[in-house]
Amino acid sequence: MLLEPVVLSPEFCRAATERNANFALAIDEWERDINARPDMRFRDYALRDVARARAHLTEDPRRETRLARCRCVRCEYESRLAGAAVSSRPCALCAAMVGSGSTSVDVLCLPCAQEHELCAHCAGDIQGRRERTDYPAAAVAD
Ligand SMILES: [Zn+2]
Ligand SMILES: [Zn+2]
Repeated sequence: MLLEPVVLSPEFCRAATERNANFALAIDEWERDINARPDMRFRDYALRDVARARAHLTEDPRRETRLARCRCVRCEYESRLAGAAVSSRPCALCAAMVGSGSTSVDVLCLPCAQEHELCAHCAGDIQGRRERTDYPAAAVAD
């Protein structure tokens, strides 16, 4: 599956960084959703994931590989349910093809993410700096 490139703007990056800063709140919300489910077996498994995500958020156990792959804390540790179809799309900045084994494809290629200190997956600031303002914008193609 070939996906459209993301239209990258400073606003897009800022929104991603804000979302990531709220990861702790998102985990709480996730837990509330799970507790509302009637299926007890599902709940047990899912709550284990919640506990793991909380521990990861505070301990950042894969910090080195995470930074090498240009992933923000949230993208590294949040389990996501992505479609299984192998997908790719052009990097939002240089148009190099970025591939993934699922429909959850990165927004940026690794070199672009490294150059701009962004998460390759969501384009938020790699360190979660909410005060950051120097985000790149994609060149507008005519
Ligand atoms: Zn790129
Ligand atoms: Zn991210």
